[in-house]
Amino acid sequence: MPDAGEATHPLNLAGDSWYAPPANHMLRISVDIGGTRSRVALIDDRRGIVGRRALPTPRADHANRFDELYAALLEGLAGEIAALRCPQPHIGESHSAPIGVALAGIVDPSQGTVVRSVNLPYCEGRPLAKDLALHRAAEVRLFTDIQAATWAEFIACSRPAVFGHLRLGTGVGYAEIRNGRFASLARAPGRHLDPLRLGDAWDRPCGCGSRGCLEAYVSRSALRAQAADNRIDARMIESALSESVGSLRRRLGDSALLVYGGGLIEEYPAIHEHLRGLCALPVGREFAELRAAQCGDDAGLLGAASLACAGSAPWASPPSDLPSASTGSTGGGGSAR
Ligand SMILES: [Zn+2]
Repeated sequence: MPDAGEATHPLNLAGDSWYAPPANHMLRISVDIGGTRSRVALIDDRRGIVGRRALPTPRADHANRFDELYAALLEGLAGEIAALRCPQPHIGESHSAPIGVALAGIVDPSQGTVVRSVNLPYCEGRPLAKDLALHRAAEVRLFTDIQAATWAEFIACSRPAVFGHLRLGTGVGYAEIRNGRFASLARAPGRHLDPLRLGDAWDRPCGCGSRGCLEAYVSRSALRAQAADNRIDARMIESALSESVGSLRRRLGDSALLVYGGGLIEEYPAIHEHLRGLCALPVGREFAELRAAQCGDDAGLLGAASLACAGSAPWASPPSDLPSASTGSTGGGGSAR
């Protein structure tokens, strides 16, 4: 059983597959739906992740099987949630904390609907939160993977007043929290966020339809395409990263914190080293401090669980409820393609 003293993050611990919480600890369930693998976690509010399960995400092979694939996803998730809640029969049911779900794409959290998801086209237009709630007889709240991960990192950094999180994976995502609320960020419809676009000198076409997005230079999809053509240009990748990180640090300003993370950084040691170098580089006072993320691969799970219980507090607009898809903090996982 993990000991509370081991925790490096207020929401995270290495997980056991079985867990019974001490008295007065609250348990939550969260789900991270990835393109190839989905994960379900049992989270103790004081100890972090104490149980976890994983299952393959159904592959979108044929459009005429989308109903079947969607049903398989719901069945699979419901089954894993049921397996996790065994030691605590009430967890994940209607009278316990809402289940938080993170998904790569654009979502409408007020309706719990998937608006767009490149990896999971069979989820598009579906009321995923409502449908999973029916399977589990529990309240479910839906977020983007970037929102969830940003929230987890924000808490890990003790909730700074101005906080940005850049996430490099298959796509590139960014979200910003100011005074405890997600900030609205500019973007052209269907395109990547304006803060994720490089200067005029960068003109490589991006999958979103724009030119010069960071994702067109530094993302899993961009690097795979470059490797397939045998034309990886390390200097250009570093230069794109330096420019993007520099402009985000300037944008956030003095006393703010910019945290970078995502699977791409672990996969490419050169990117990891370059970002570490940028952290150490002296910059002017008007630039935000730069740090590496702390929550790793669990950020989405941790953040979704916490956001599900946070109600409307972290959202700037609309004030009455959770954000609409247009709040702009959804930039990740290739969501804008
Ligand atoms: Zn783009």
